[in-house]
Amino acid sequence: YFLLASALHFHEAAALTFVKDQTNPSSHPIRRVAVIGAGIAGLSLAHALENSPDCAEEYLRRGGRAFGDSEFGVQVSLFDSRPSLDRQTGAGVQINGGLSVLGKINQDLQAKVAAAALPLSNIRSRTKPWFGGGRDPFWNLLELNIEDVIRKTGGDAEKELIEGGQVWCHTIMRGALQEVLVEQLPKALSDRTHFQKRLIGIKPAAGDEGIMCEFDDNSLYGPFDLVVGCDGINSAVRQYIETSKISGNARERSAFYSGIRIKFAIKDGEPSDPMPESAELRQYFGDGAYALGGVYGNGEGRPASKGAYVIVKDDNYFGPFRKRDTKSSPENVGENPAWDQNTRVDARESCIEILDKTGVPDIEVGPIFRDSNRFFELGVYFHNPFSFNGWKREVKQSGGKFCVLAGDAAHAMPPFLGQGSNQAIQDAYTLAKKIFLHNSYHLTAGLEEGDEEIEMKNIDVLLKEYENVRWFPTTSITAKAVFLGYLETGQTRFLSKFRDVFFFMTGKLGIARKVFLDSA
Ligand SMILES: Cc1cc2nc3c(=O)[nH]c(=O)nc-3n(C[C@H](O)[C@H](O)[C@H](O)COP(=O)(O)OP(=O)(O)OC[C@H]3O[C@@H](n4cnc5c(N)ncnc54)[C@H](O)[C@@H]3O)c2cc1C
Repeated sequence: YFLLASALHFHEAAALTFVKDQTNPSSHPIRRVAVIGAGIAGLSLAHALENSPDCAEEYLRRGGRAFGDSEFGVQVSLFDSRPSLDRQTGAGVQINGGLSVLGKINQDLQAKVAAAALPLSNIRSRTKPWFGGGRDPFWNLLELNIEDVIRKTGGDAEKELIEGGQVWCHTIMRGALQEVLVEQLPKALSDRTHFQKRLIGIKPAAGDEGIMCEFDDNSLYGPFDLVVGCDGINSAVRQYIETSKISGNARERSAFYSGIRIKFAIKDGEPSDPMPESAELRQYFGDGAYALGGVYGNGEGRPASKGAYVIVKDDNYFGPFRKRDTKSSPENVGENPAWDQNTRVDARESCIEILDKTGVPDIEVGPIFRDSNRFFELGVYFHNPFSFNGWKREVKQSGGKFCVLAGDAAHAMPPFLGQGSNQAIQDAYTLAKKIFLHNSYHLTAGLEEGDEEIEMKNIDVLLKEYENVRWFPTTSITAKAVFLGYLETGQTRFLSKFRDVFFFMTGKLGIARKVFLDSA
């Protein structure tokens, strides 16, 4: 399916050559951008558009001017449905390629994020011993020493992920990452950041003047030259792009439930805890479930947090298909697009029970579950990467203005390769570069002899180019992460053994290293 999708997509990319020639000379610069969703994608895009001399370099060099209070000529308004950015919600994430790209957006921002995070030194996969009676609590299947892996691979991986001796591969709590991204926003942009605004409608402004965004508190903002949907898995903007309307029913949106669930617990460190110099992530396999334990940076100067995750199949599902004989209501297939499910204490027992039942070695994750102060549960969702309208749509009667997607809204992927945030940051950078390129047409003030004129392309073509650049890597990671999710939670004993052999062999043959770095 994924191969077919990529083949069709490339066919579409080839067909673009025809469109490319039809440039639109009346194309206006993009000045007013609405970013829906202040998660990792939305905040990174806000930085790339308003806090990145590097992204705007060519625009400034050619004499591009400020617009309102925005130095680089693009004014972002950020909207999020949450009441505030609660730093206590969400899991820990590993950031690698995303952290490297943050440096291309703004080096100070990258340094602040790195200071709030912990360098990741190792990833290990372990399984419960195949035969009882031995003394070992687990068998080692695979170990990746991160710096070693990157240096041995060399090439682009080494160039992008190691800079001046610093390895860009860290762990950080999602809340702490968002906190840094928010704190580092330029002041004027903070004033244009609005919480408790759930997008419920997109429509043209009067007189072809752009796009208006309608929110659930009856407020209306606009007009905008571009609306970017960074509103996560259950994206309202994605629904608009696919159907030209936004319905209140989230179930009508296009994310697939994988039939895999994640329960996780976070234990924040105490001020008296020694500060670890680096972090390790350790995976433990059992029969029909696996667990992950790790340490995550939780902000500069704050004690690190521990996270424990247990990943299981939903009994009511066979892969992504609901079993016909299940009686329980579909409502128990929850999801957590707003990251606010916090089940507090009652998940402790059920997490420990899963470890016991599936034989997952609990030497590390068990104690974290027992001591934790926050518990979450969510379903794993992903998007069909091949949709008729792709990632963009023109809003009719808006004067040729577009909506486009970034982050999970464009390509929700299972988290088993730890890449959702990394890819969201890379989307933001790529999209911002296209917007500045568009805004640089016809600017000649700072040009020197020999400088080439920028080829005029309309925004439709540039947004398609953005999608083409980002579609293949994100689709390939989604496909691998879906495969890994089903493999790692293999429910029969045979599948569990197959998974153990698979991990052992991919480690020995260097394939695991390649998959990790390709994704990063
Ligand atoms: C357990 C777990 C572990 C993970 N580990 C990793 C990892 O190690 N590395 C990694 O890179 N990624 C990881 N991820 C994935 C990563 O967290 C996501 O890919 C990332 O958060 C996506 O960012 P986003 O900004 O696109 O979406 P989100 O972070 O989901 O943000 C979307 C925002 O949009 C807002 N919103 C939603 N609907 C509306 C609306 N209608 N109107 C206005 N606002 C709206 C929401 O409130 C939210 O703030 C993990 C995910 C999980 C669940």
